Amino acid sequence: MPKLYIVPTPIGNLEDITLRALRILKEADVILAEDTRTSSVLLKHYNIPTKLFAYHQFNEHKTLQTVINKIQSGETLALISDAGTPGISDPGFLLVRECVRAGIEVECLPGPTAFVPALVVSGIPCDTFFFEGFLPHKKGRQTRLTYLAQLDHTIVLYESPHRVHKTIVQCAEFFGNERNAVVVRELTKIHEEIIRGTLHEIGLSLADKTVKGEIVIIIEGKKDTKSADEE
Ligand code: SAM
Repeated sequence: MPKLYIVPTPIGNLEDITLRALRILKEADVILAEDTRTSSVLLKHYNIPTKLFAYHQFNEHKTLQTVINKIQSGETLALISDAGTPGISDPGFLLVRECVRAGIEVECLPGPTAFVPALVVSGIPCDTFFFEGFLPHKKGRQTRLTYLAQLDHTIVLYESPHRVHKTIVQCAEFFGNERNAVVVRELTKIHEEIIRGTLHEIGLSLADKTVKGEIVIIIEGKKDTKSADEE
């Protein structure tokens, strides 16, 4: 039966892909890829000759119906993004929703995503957490920060290297200097780095640095003042 597979791909280390993901990518009629050039590196590495079709945030609305038609005509499609799991701060949601509406079967394989290893390695409670992803750059940013500041769950942010310092400094303003946080950089890659401390300390340590690479920020949730007093 034709269906849509959502296939997670490595977030850096090409070995981080499951055997089933490789098989599905080989067997699919078409792979929908966010950036066909980026994905061809992975596909070439694993000798996967399946043809690629561009599917990204700038054409997803326009191509949605074409993609649905392809699946309905009997083709099996696999959606991948540049890295990690499609739909997580990447295109995917619209297509899954449309498939669900059209009665098309959707299967998402388990696999790499940046926030899970970042959260687990942080040492900050990972039993309950709030995934925010990227904060808005301008409009709505302060509203989001005000909202996040009062959550007692661990908070997960995605951030770009050139904004990380500004975001940490702003988080210190909204959440308090003493909140613990962890900046996880370049997961699974040669320059993987984990920076731990309070928001204030991390802000200071990043102040004069040119930060490179990909980043996840983990921030501890607001402490319950009552139970903190009881400790
Ligand atoms: N779909 C991806 C996932 O499942 O995690 C996320 C895609 S989003 C466009 C890219 C962001 O994910 C980066 O800006 C960074 O915040 C995070 N990210 C991706 N790869 C990473 C890595 N190797 N180390 C740290 N963060 C990473």
